[in-house]
Amino acid sequence: MSIRKIVKYGSKSLREKSKEVHKISKKIQILVEDLYDTMYSLNGVGLAAPQIGENLRVFVIDTGVDQKSMNPITFINPKILKTEGAINSYEGCLSFPDAYTNVRRHKYVKVKALDIKGRPFIIEVNDGSLLARAIQHEFDHLEGILFIDHSRNRFEADKILTEKGLNPIDANYLLDEKEMEEEIQNTVQNEEKPVD
Ligand code: ZN
Repeated sequence: MSIRKIVKYGSKSLREKSKEVHKISKKIQILVEDLYDTMYSLNGVGLAAPQIGENLRVFVIDTGVDQKSMNPITFINPKILKTEGAINSYEGCLSFPDAYTNVRRHKYVKVKALDIKGRPFIIEVNDGSLLARAIQHEFDHLEGILFIDHSRNRFEADKILTEKGLNPIDANYLLDEKEMEEEIQNTVQNEEKPVD
């Protein structure tokens, strides 16, 4: 329907908790169309409703790389049922133009949500793939959590944010992910062990 303006980092509404959708009305259908139009126009992999100024529990993801492999998935009122494991990767966000930081994510995620017709579905992703990470990233937006809150290195993240003219990390939002960090470090050590 239309390409909407992205709410940028620094705006208070990105820190608000979004509200449940009570009815999949015409308004919600248009919101979902706008999310896809806006996301595709910016070559994004995912977009959450609060990023276009609607604090509702809706996000869309498409990890397809071209038209042939398009795989749009709409999540309404999602619930994370289970997470396991830890990985790290560089992540960005359409609300943070050109800023990528090293963040912690779970390897496995199981999520329940409603589709655009109001039908419940469950998705389980087990390999720390782009889809697994995107689900966690977009779900966070509904909670007012941003990817930089998962930063492994606050000082590196601050440097990147400042370079892009964005506000530095607010320590109050940094998440305590000690166990995830330990798991990431152990994985790295195991990978670096010479094979003998
Ligand atoms: Zn984002």
